[in-house]
Amino acid sequence: MKKLSVRTSSQIEMLDITSQIEKIVKESGVTEGVCYLFVPHTTAAVTINEGADPSVKTDILKGLDKNIPLDDNYQHQEGNSAAHIKASTIGSSEVVPVESGSLVLGTWQSIFFCEFDGPRTRNVLVKVIGE
Ligand code: ZN
Repeated sequence: MKKLSVRTSSQIEMLDITSQIEKIVKESGVTEGVCYLFVPHTTAAVTINEGADPSVKTDILKGLDKNIPLDDNYQHQEGNSAAHIKASTIGSSEVVPVESGSLVLGTWQSIFFCEFDGPRTRNVLVKVIGE
């Protein structure tokens, strides 16, 4: 298991981590298998979506903000319930196939670390499993 450290710089942001994950896959020596990604945090997440046009991630964050308001008389005293709800909505793991030693992603797909309560230093756990 590899641990990728991710430094976020805003309260809410999506960081493209595809190249860092690709590097971990290459270093693993696995040519055929799967790459499992897990975010061990309750206010951050990981997702796969369009990386070519940066306005897509802006719109995803806008859509989440619209559906999950920052303040909605939540009970959690820490005051970051919206971040917890967004993290559960997006999810804490992804699995990407590995073929010929590379991630198998669609033409427009990138892997994004999603920060919902930053800025902070975060981790993504990566396990590359061979067939
Ligand atoms: Zn909390």
